[in-house]
Amino acid sequence: MAVVKRIVLIGPPGCGKGTQAKRIEDATGMIQLSTGDMLRKAVADASPVGLKVKAVMEAGQLVSDEIIIEMVTDRIKAPDCAKGFILDGFPRSIPQAEALGSMLSENGQPLNGAIEIRVPDEFIVERITGRFTCAKCGAGYHEKFQKPVKEGVCDKCGATDFSHRKDDNEETVRTRLSAYHDVTQPIVGFYEKAGLLKVVDGTQNIDQVAASIMKVLETL
Ligand code: ADP
Ligand code: AMP
Repeated sequence: MAVVKRIVLIGPPGCGKGTQAKRIEDATGMIQLSTGDMLRKAVADASPVGLKVKAVMEAGQLVSDEIIIEMVTDRIKAPDCAKGFILDGFPRSIPQAEALGSMLSENGQPLNGAIEIRVPDEFIVERITGRFTCAKCGAGYHEKFQKPVKEGVCDKCGATDFSHRKDDNEETVRTRLSAYHDVTQPIVGFYEKAGLLKVVDGTQNIDQVAASIMKVLETL
């Protein structure tokens, strides 16, 4: 089912944004735009942006609005974004949400909706400390909630090397959760006022959350 929409996924670190963005991408052809992935690539490439943001990311703090907005402004102009997109991890502050609004209205392609994946803090440490990804294809897993079918082998590409994110430790999670509540959560009210907000219960299992999101997507 090809769907061309522009949506934002909102929620604390570990709520399932990346997992669900990939599901929506596979189901609809809309593309996942993850600012976290873009920044991790910049760090791995040791690009000028990567060198600037490495320590901030490792500490679990937010990268400056200026760097992020410039990065997304460039990315959103690429031709593949015409397929529609799922923003995963952006916007994460009111200035970023305002900048997104300006970028999209300049293109004449407004946002269709903002979906909050609501998960209470007490779920988050377990979600994040159990997260790992395939080192070859990036497929996401969880030690308890989303294990590979065959232990130690990636379901998607068969590789046997996996990696854990450096910032996925209990101490950094606390900093990331504070940043979420202090700086990011106000965008929920921002989108509510704009009449764009939908909320799904992120404490359900992965398939149930995906089904709830697909139902919401049909209404946007
Ligand atoms: P985010 O992108 O919001 O930081 P992820 O999608 O990477 O979060 O999910 C964090 C971890 O929790 C991953 O290991 C993922 O497999 C797992 N996960 C995602 N959604 C759920 C869910 N609904 N129930 C249990 N575990 C989940
Ligand atoms: P994520 O992969 O979404 O968990 O993001 C990982 C880290 O990248 C965050 O903890 C921040 O340091 C940084 N980051 C990603 N997206 C943003 C954003 N929109 N604004 C500020 N920092 C971001």
